[in-house]
Amino acid sequence: MTLGFSTDRPDSWQACSACGNETIITDPRPRCGNCGGLLEVHHRAPDLTRDEVLRRFTERRGGRGAAAASGVWRFQEMVLPGVSDIVSHPEGNTPLLRRAAVERWSGVPGLALKHEGYNPTGSFKDRGMTVGVTQARRIGARAVGCASTGNTAASLAAYAAQAEIPALVLVPAEGVALGKLAQSLAYGARTLLVRGDFDDCLRLVEEASRELGVYLLNSINPFRIEGQKTIVLELLQQLGWEVPDWIVLPAGNLGNTSAFGKALHEAERWGLIDRQPRLAAVQAAGAAPFATSFAEQFRQRRKVKAETVATAIRIGDPASWDRAVRAIVETDGVVLAVSDDEILEAKAAVDAAGVGCEPASAASVAGARRLAREGAIQPGQSVVAILTGHVLKDPGILLEYHRERQPSPPGANRPIEIDARLSEVERVLKA
Ligand SMILES: [Zn+2]
Repeated sequence: MTLGFSTDRPDSWQACSACGNETIITDPRPRCGNCGGLLEVHHRAPDLTRDEVLRRFTERRGGRGAAAASGVWRFQEMVLPGVSDIVSHPEGNTPLLRRAAVERWSGVPGLALKHEGYNPTGSFKDRGMTVGVTQARRIGARAVGCASTGNTAASLAAYAAQAEIPALVLVPAEGVALGKLAQSLAYGARTLLVRGDFDDCLRLVEEASRELGVYLLNSINPFRIEGQKTIVLELLQQLGWEVPDWIVLPAGNLGNTSAFGKALHEAERWGLIDRQPRLAAVQAAGAAPFATSFAEQFRQRRKVKAETVATAIRIGDPASWDRAVRAIVETDGVVLAVSDDEILEAKAAVDAAGVGCEPASAASVAGARRLAREGAIQPGQSVVAILTGHVLKDPGILLEYHRERQPSPPGANRPIEIDARLSEVERVLKA
């Protein structure tokens, strides 16, 4: 079988997902010049058979050199072909974890956790950022910027530092988790605390991009989506290209939902897989415009004033809406919302299994439990839940949950203060 289609196009180009207008791969504008729609990167399939593509991906795994060491650049043909000056930490190569305690808690036997918190700055954002900053250097950007709930800021700060390009990050003055803010400062980004919410930050940085020539590395940046696709490609590779029945992921700004849909679409088109898993996008109930719209068959786009403990998905007006709708429709997917209590209980279960994740990550595990209880996930089906960030991203919520919250929530592990005597230790051991 031969992959690909004969065409005289270049290897890669950008096209507007709203009006179809095409532009060259090095066009730095964040939106379509025609209609203001979001841009998408397209790659010509290489003239290789399925087996040749898979052999190439397999041989690079654990190979020498920066590109081979990266779980993003291993899939370069599907990410950003033809570029050799790559800004790679490296990143990716995140594990698929199985823990009996999490299987029991969720009621999903064999539940696999794809833990993106193992990336260099502790979140999946590094996969998109290595591609975005590589592209920034390729087009000679003088400065890069993003709006962020925190993880993107931390990642941009780290990769911009590596590329030696000045970085500007805009985060809400209130409600950014401590670990993420600390990272942005440490990696040297100019960090602006905006008096407003994430949606205000997003508007402002888009203006800065238009008026001040800052290269925009928000989630709407199409090159970041290309990097995030590799979460799916890597997990498929880890499963020997056996397609799971479900992939469950947290959903806020909908960048990952879009990226996953694109990855699956392309993997099938390139002949790497022969069917699609179902995507389950899980929102926090206080920030669930996409879940509301799904319940209405996506008849209209919704916005809400977002409020949830899961700050990474506290987004009321998701940027990647249309692409995410397509991902859900094409994969026969579902969108659901879980309460903050369910998220924190799931997080306590993941944490207590010795795995750990940030609150937004746990939405996927809470969602898997809900889908199993409702019978959507059936016994014996294979399920991968995505954990998007590291447990230390949000130490504030951890300490509040375990040490302070009244009444004591499920899985709370209260610290015990004692006098410095052996009998006190003995008393605790017996309790
Ligand atoms: Zn357009």
